[in-house]
Amino acid sequence: MMTSKGYIAREDKFGAHNYHPLPVVLEKGEGVFVWDVDGKRYFDFLSAYSAVNQGHCHPKIIGAMVEQAQKLTLTSRAFYNSVLGEYEEFVCKFFGYDKVLPMNTGAEADETALKLARKWAYKVKGVPENEAKIVVCADNFHGRTITIVSMSTDPDSYSGFGPFTPGFITIPYNDIEALKKVLEADPNVAAFLVEPIQGEAGVFVPDDGYLKKAFDLCKAHNVLFVADEVQTGIARTGKLLACDHEGVRPDILILGKALSGGAMPVSAVLADDSIMLVIKPGEHGSTFGGNPLAGKVAIAALNVINDEKLAENAERLGKIFREELSKISSDMVELVRGKGLLNAVVIKPKNGKTAWDVCLALRDNGLLAKPTHGHIIRFAPPLVITEAQLREAIDIITKTLADF
Ligand code: PLP
Repeated sequence: MMTSKGYIAREDKFGAHNYHPLPVVLEKGEGVFVWDVDGKRYFDFLSAYSAVNQGHCHPKIIGAMVEQAQKLTLTSRAFYNSVLGEYEEFVCKFFGYDKVLPMNTGAEADETALKLARKWAYKVKGVPENEAKIVVCADNFHGRTITIVSMSTDPDSYSGFGPFTPGFITIPYNDIEALKKVLEADPNVAAFLVEPIQGEAGVFVPDDGYLKKAFDLCKAHNVLFVADEVQTGIARTGKLLACDHEGVRPDILILGKALSGGAMPVSAVLADDSIMLVIKPGEHGSTFGGNPLAGKVAIAALNVINDEKLAENAERLGKIFREELSKISSDMVELVRGKGLLNAVVIKPKNGKTAWDVCLALRDNGLLAKPTHGHIIRFAPPLVITEAQLREAIDIITKTLADF
């Protein structure tokens, strides 16, 4: 039987070194728990970066997946299939848009939104060809493609990958004046692309009212408000969408991750006809985007969100989580922040011990979380977590920090 060390050594030898995983080898998941190859159980407080909002291997999602997998998995979009229209109608009505463009990963959906916004700028707004600009925020995270890293301000993301795609203007996050200035100065801005909460940056929650003010500014300047809800969407922050906290309806909505409950890559871009129909046949697509397997899985995954009231659960338990974590008297805890069940603790190193060491100790005590940017630990359990389970997890976090 292979040991954890063996599994890790094999990945290290044959896999590219583009990740630095926490040393734990998982082989099974159910609900809020995952098990390692030695049978040890852990609370999963990462949820695959918020892809597993519905909990691991949710029986309704896996059931839909297995049933469809035995029937038809992929046709490509060269032909119609009997599920795509059903899924498209379902997802459009679920989020309140005219149309959806189905893709697979979050990065692809972001790329799709960028193409859509540029095309709209030329076809509808009247921006001169090749002059369209997209305004983005410092410390953003939208994925890993060349164009997406071209708008990143994180050297780890972009260094060594130039030359970069032009056409982006970067402004500070949570800075309405900066947005106002840039929209007033440049008539060729097609869109403002924003994460309602910056997840990868360390769960930065903007000031109340920021999204609404940004949306209103976009409207005043005929600029599309594009929300990347790949991480914040689908009940994670206590509402179906993080933009719902401010009553903002994005012109273009980008979804991924939990759209499949973590069962497979499913992403989507939603918009109304006046925007979506600027893209014509042959101008964009993906072999796997809109496949019937993804369609059935996504319908099941979204039904679970509603049926199990996961947004309400995230809202209620998130408050308890932040309240309890704020009571921890550890000089390593600098700050607790978040919304719903997307939270983070900013860690102050102590005696050379960092957030990484805290995560190793949490692992030893039965809870998995991962540092981001060295000193921030994100806590984002599956939204099916119960209050009793949450309190058990809070005890683990509290005791672990007390040991440092
Ligand atoms: N957008 C946001 C806000 C994300 O958090 C992520 C991934 O973490 C992505 C896009 C990229 O998604 P994917 O890794 O599926 O390409």
